[in-house]
This record gives sequence, structure tokens and C-alpha cells, in this order.
Amino acid sequence: MSQTPKNIAIVGSGLVGSLLAIYLRPYGHRVTVFDRRPDIRTVEFSGRSINLAMSDRGWKALREVSLEKQIKEIAIPLNKRAMHVLGKPQYFQKYGKEGEAIWSISRGVLNRRMIDLAEEAGAEFKFNEKVWDVDLPTATLYTGESEKSEWKEYKFDIVFGCDGAFSRIRHKMQRRSRYNYSQHFLDVGYKELTIPPNKDGSHKLDKHSFHIWPRGKFMFIAMPNLDGSFTCTLFLPFEGEVSFEKITTKKEAKAFFTTYFPNVMQDIENLTKDFFNNPTSAMVTMKCYPWTYWDKVALVGDSAHAVVPFYGQGMNAGFEDIYTLNKIMKELGDDWENIFQTFQKQRKPNADAIAELSYRNFIEMSSKTADPSFLLQKKIEKWFAEKHPKLWEPTYSRVTFSDRAYAEALAIGDIQEEIMQEVMKMPGIEEDWRNKKVEDRILQLLEQKQQF
Ligand SMILES: Cc1cc2nc3c(=O)[nH]c(=O)nc-3n(C[C@H](O)[C@H](O)[C@H](O)COP(=O)(O)OP(=O)(O)OC[C@H]3O[C@@H](n4cnc5c(N)ncnc54)[C@H](O)[C@@H]3O)c2cc1C
Repeated sequence: MSQTPKNIAIVGSGLVGSLLAIYLRPYGHRVTVFDRRPDIRTVEFSGRSINLAMSDRGWKALREVSLEKQIKEIAIPLNKRAMHVLGKPQYFQKYGKEGEAIWSISRGVLNRRMIDLAEEAGAEFKFNEKVWDVDLPTATLYTGESEKSEWKEYKFDIVFGCDGAFSRIRHKMQRRSRYNYSQHFLDVGYKELTIPPNKDGSHKLDKHSFHIWPRGKFMFIAMPNLDGSFTCTLFLPFEGEVSFEKITTKKEAKAFFTTYFPNVMQDIENLTKDFFNNPTSAMVTMKCYPWTYWDKVALVGDSAHAVVPFYGQGMNAGFEDIYTLNKIMKELGDDWENIFQTFQKQRKPNADAIAELSYRNFIEMSSKTADPSFLLQKKIEKWFAEKHPKLWEPTYSRVTFSDRAYAEALAIGDIQEEIMQEVMKMPGIEEDWRNKKVEDRILQLLEQKQQF
């Protein structure tokens, strides 16, 4: 179904805002994108920046607007984890089946490309224009240099709030009666560091792996960039025995890396300098509802649902929002109120599910990776899944390598967990589990739970 062209504003030129502009233009809508930041294409940029993992849901949304191929050219496929356990040689864990991979992509490179593409599609960008206020019933935006300066007024037919986890547009919605909102910060923060390329431009570590140095309550990770470097992230509690607050001098930073990351510290560029120069950032889960105001305003991406990054799904979920919204637009034509209602009803349970899955992955990575019983359970699950791929798909694969609902991945994952709890109670399971008895028990429990 076609749509009558509207005058649409998108607040935020991040990944979600720029992809949404690309989706809206072919309908003939006039699209203006506002961002409080300067145009990132004009800001000096080293080429290294935070990188993100793009997986199936993100690619599907890009494929729909014929962008998958060209974005894959600026991404690196990672088909496995490289585990760097203290005192053990590096070992690899395949992510999924043959050919399945997540893709490492620089946020800066991707965002620049998406803004170019949105502009080519005919969207207009207004940078350095912070939106301070929105009048929801009339879709009117107010922008200006500061909260106290004189504001410009822009009247639109529809406003999309793609302005991230601390959205100004959502902030206005929150002042309405019966508006549900929650935010929860982790007591773990993160800091980015860099491993530069070798002199010949090659990568210092395997470039098709997601590198993880798990250390119980904290960890270090590295993802490759196209220029041969790796962007690394140290996740560490803000406070406590081993924490950011305990590392206050270069000597302490060096001692920390010497104790916990001796095999990688020599590769990190300007380790002690960057450790203190780069910010320590926080991670938040934000939930809210509703996401829309009549046929006038809708939140999409992190402004509607921010999740902690431990499943690598925040951007993927935002892109999936757009894919879903577009599908509904095609079905419902000009009925924007119905489009927005249908959109939020479909997406909200899935946004809640990926928030929960992402939080659980944080708990799993930080406190369970050293637990022998947990590791054994994972081994048994993997063994059974390989024997019966149609009966048992690991939750990670359901989330990362499929486009089935996040809510379904969470629900099936819970059933699988219940089954494994039973299996782990079997006498002698620690000594001998690669056997028919264990296989039959899982099959029996699956039948009981009607998973066939
Ligand atoms: C450490 C970390 C790692 C991550 N890793 C992954 C990953 O591997 N895979 C993945 O899928 N996701 C990942 N994510 C999540 C991902 O970064 C976000 O989900 C994604 O960036 C959300 O995009 P967005 O466009 O909705 O919001 P943002 O990227 O936050 O963009 C919001 C934009 O709005 C602008 N803006 C804000 N307020 C205003 C205003 N008042 N007026 C005008 N403009 C405004 C901002 O300047 C910005 O450009 C990670 C997140 C973190 C923190």
C-alpha cells in the first residue's frame, strides 16, 4: 500500500535515525534529520572507533533497502570466539554452523556511510541543532544552542525520536500520566583501548575472531578493524576489590594488566596514557511504554529500549524495529495511528526479551564462566545440539543467527534451562555424559515439554 507524502522529522542521526531516513524516502516523505552533534563526516576521525557486531537481524534490515552488500564491504566476519584464559593457550569456539558469523564494523565508518546514503536518498540533515523540546500533539520541535537561548520552531506531520537512550523526545512523553519508565545501571563500567596494526598493516591477533579474556567479575575483549587495528574494551566493576576506583596511578594500571592480562598488554597502544585519558563509561537498561503518541510521535531504537551490550544486539534490535515498522506501513497505508499502535505492540515484548537476555549474558559472562558445573552444562548442551540440530538450537544462535522473535528465544531458552537443570542432577553426570542415557533423558524431557 502506498502512503500520502508527509513532512517527517527524525531526531538523531545515529545508526537508527539514518537508516530510518533511508526507509522513509522512497514513500515520497519529506525527511529532515536533526542532530545535536556536528556532522561526523567533517570531524577528524582516526578510522578507529567503537566497533559493533552486526548479525542477521541487522543484515536483514539492510538487505531490504539493498544495502547489505555494500555495508559488508566495510565489515569483517567473525566466525568464532578466541578465548584467552589465564594460564592456558588460546582456544577457539565456533559461533554457529558453517558459514555463520557476526560482523565487526566500526560505528564511525558505518554511521558516516549511512548519513551519505540517507542524503543521496534525499533526506535533509541539520547538524549542530539540538532538540530541546517537542510539542507532542502538534509534532512541533524546538531547537537551539542552549536551553536558555532563543529557539527555532519547526512544525512537522510526524516526529520520530531516534535520539538514543537519554532521549529528549521520550523525556517529554514521560511527563504524561501513566507513562511507564525504568532505568537500571550496571555496577560495571567500560573503557576502550586500542591494539594497533603490525608495521605491515596486518592484524596482531586472528582477525576473524571475537577475542575474549574472561576473568570472572571482569573481562577484556577485542574486535578487529579494517585498518589492522583492534578496538578493545575493558569491562570492570566501578567499585570493589578489583575495580576502576582502585586503579588511580600509571603504576597501578600497569600492575593490573601485568597480573590479569600479561599476554596482551604489550600489544596495547599507549596503555597507561589511554587508560587515564579515555573515559570510563556506564551501561544502562532502559525500558519505557508507550513508545508512541497518537499518529504524531514514535520512538525507535535506543530511545525506546536501551540494553546492555553483552549480546551485541542494541543496534540490531533498532534496525529490526525499522524493518518491522516498514512492513506495517506497507500493510496499513495512511493509518498512522494504527501503524504506531501495531508497531509498539509487536516490538515491546521483543525489546523486553532482548533486554533480559542481554542482562543474563552479563551475569553469565561475569560470574558463571569460571563455574565448572556451568561449563559442563554448556558442553552437554552443545553435544546434544550437534546430535539433534532440529531439536535443540542454542539461545545464542536463535538470537544472533535467526530473525525469529527475541521473545521466543527467551521463552525456549528458559525451557532448555529447566531441562538442563534436570540433566545436571543425573548421578555421575560429571564423570560420564557423552552417552545414550543422557541423550535419552534430554529427549524424554523435551517430549514432556512438548518441544517436538
Ligand atoms: C559498549 C557498547 C557496545 C555495543 N555493541 C553493540 C554491538 O556489538 N551490536 C549491536 O547491535 N549494538 C551494540 N551496542 C548498542 C548500539 O550502540 C546502540 O543500540 C545503537 O547505537 C543505538 O542507535 P540509536 O541510533 O538508536 O541511538 P544513538 O546511537 O545513541 O544515536 C542517537 C543520536 O541522537 C542524537 N541526539 C541525542 N539527543 C539529541 C537531541 N536532543 N537533539 C538532537 N539530536 C540528539 C545523538 O547525537 C546521536 O547522534 C553497543 C553499545 C555500547 C554502549
